[in-house]
Amino acid sequence: MQLVKALVSVHEELASWRQHLHQNPEIAYEEKDTSDFVAAKLESFGVEVYRGFGGTGLVGVIKGNLGDPENGKAIGLRADMDALPMSEETNLTYASQRPGRMHACGHDGHTTMLLAAARHLAETRDFQGTIYCIFQPAEEGGNAGARSMIKDGLFEKFHMDSVWGMHNWPGLEVGRAVAHCGAAMAGADIFVLTIDGKGGHAAMPHLTKDPVAAAGMCILALQTLISRQLDPFDQAVISLTKLEAGSAFNVIPATASIGGTLRTMNAETRLRMIAEIEAAAKNAAATLGCNVSMELRPGYPPTLNHESDALFARDIITDMLGADGLETSMTPVMGAEDFSFMLEKKPGAYIWLGAGLQSENLHSPHFDFNDDLLPIGASFWVQLAQSKLAQST
Ligand SMILES: [Zn+2]
Ligand SMILES: [Zn+2]
Repeated sequence: MQLVKALVSVHEELASWRQHLHQNPEIAYEEKDTSDFVAAKLESFGVEVYRGFGGTGLVGVIKGNLGDPENGKAIGLRADMDALPMSEETNLTYASQRPGRMHACGHDGHTTMLLAAARHLAETRDFQGTIYCIFQPAEEGGNAGARSMIKDGLFEKFHMDSVWGMHNWPGLEVGRAVAHCGAAMAGADIFVLTIDGKGGHAAMPHLTKDPVAAAGMCILALQTLISRQLDPFDQAVISLTKLEAGSAFNVIPATASIGGTLRTMNAETRLRMIAEIEAAAKNAAATLGCNVSMELRPGYPPTLNHESDALFARDIITDMLGADGLETSMTPVMGAEDFSFMLEKKPGAYIWLGAGLQSENLHSPHFDFNDDLLPIGASFWVQLAQSKLAQST
């Protein structure tokens, strides 16, 4: 591995930062102590800090010493800072000290890797242009800290030519990484179908329009949408996860509702499947004389890497980790990621960094970020930023 030597030599110090964050997890939009920790570190490195983007989000600005930074390019590197509302069961000496809060997705590690890169880049400044280190709140939970930072003017205040994200990835060996050309993660939307019928006595169904029976027809109709309406080479998942109707055993209710999620890998399929869900439910319920209305609660869009940037990231991975370090056969996953909002606005890519075959899964109460990744991820940021800013086209 061709890592940045100065980052390898401070591995223990980086692990202590990471374990401090692990011990003090904060969930979406409550990352106050974490944000203070990051700001204090950045300021101690001589990095300009701008706070208050998306509440607890902050940006560190590092200008290069080569040439006029104002004439150079600019790049955004993003880390997520939030933990999950769950209880830790690791028994680690640095396990969470906050009940019901846990860094079970490794955002403690992501924050540390970007901090480490920021210190090195601020010490060396051997690039032309500007590097923005974006520390965002609330990746988890559906309320999109990335979107909140954008709404608060992230890309208006700071001009960036590209943005980049990274996530540790259990199940992939340490020293390997993935940069998908195209979709890395799915988009996820919630929908609720309300079925209106006509209630009445359970003994006289012919005088009603039974929304419970209609819900059954809708469920069956929706099961065949993916298998019969979608190109087998495209990907989507519909899962019906909530079903509500009725309050008494002898009353046919007037309404029923079905809730679920739609996960898709591209914008076109997403819009088409939303329309298909509504049409299939309406048609199915109509056979029993019921009406259906659909409420869509848009979630995170698909995380779509820009192809030339994914290829650029692959070159960095290969330079740093060797040809074996680049993994190209892993398919995208149906989980969603709010870095997608940034990739909707700017070119760039989202990288998976192997966390090891022994790592517990993300969101497991036994998960712990693998500290072996700290110098690898930080080196990737440094080499990516330097190379991207030096790129002539
Ligand atoms: Zn997560
Ligand atoms: Zn995560």
